Amino acid sequence: TNFESLGVSKQIVATLTALGIETPTPIQAQAIPLLLEGRDLIGLAQTGTGKTAAFGLPLIERLLADNVRPDNRTTRSLILAPTRELVNQIAASLKTFAKGKPLKINLVVGGVSINKQQLQLEKGTDILVATPGRLLDLIARRAIGLTTVRFLILDEADQMLDLGFVHDLRKISKMVPKKRQTMLFSATMPKAIADLAADFLTEPTKVEV
Ligand code: AMP
Repeated sequence: TNFESLGVSKQIVATLTALGIETPTPIQAQAIPLLLEGRDLIGLAQTGTGKTAAFGLPLIERLLADNVRPDNRTTRSLILAPTRELVNQIAASLKTFAKGKPLKINLVVGGVSINKQQLQLEKGTDILVATPGRLLDLIARRAIGLTTVRFLILDEADQMLDLGFVHDLRKISKMVPKKRQTMLFSATMPKAIADLAADFLTEPTKVEV
């Protein structure tokens, strides 16, 4: 298989080729077609399996297909991850995949100036990558609202639970519209993650690599 046969558009395939990404990994081969169809997905996968592209490429494709611009202080999609490092890594990867496309990708993490992040959110965001705590701080300041989120991604969900983010995640989920596509990635599937998935996802397909 190649990315084009999975449903990825020619221009993005060209970008991937330039990055040396030509053969889909197993999680990509399984997840991309399902996600392009709009299905909810549980992905059991570790870091290094190519899971960022597995959710990122369909996300980019679906955002481009909708061809709308975000309103000020809103985001069209939200990716939650446990650590600053992972948020930075995801945002950097998505920026390379979406190179030349009219998608505004912002990230918010703790430990750096919140005022600067507030300013960046002002003009609207297509893809927001965030740690849960800082996101809630920005919501409390009315710097960002989640009522236009159509795509929600939880990355390294088991890590987020281990770091005590479960309450934050549930709070955030109440602010996101029910009509959305949700993807949850986790390296392990303890009961707490299965419970979270049951609450957050609708008829998800499970993919394991
Ligand atoms: P991830 O598991 O998403 O953290 O990705 C791990 C690394 O693999 C990143 O540096 C990606 O750019 C790279 N990568 C992702 N998909 C592929 C692929 N299909 N072929 C080669 N490299 C890839």
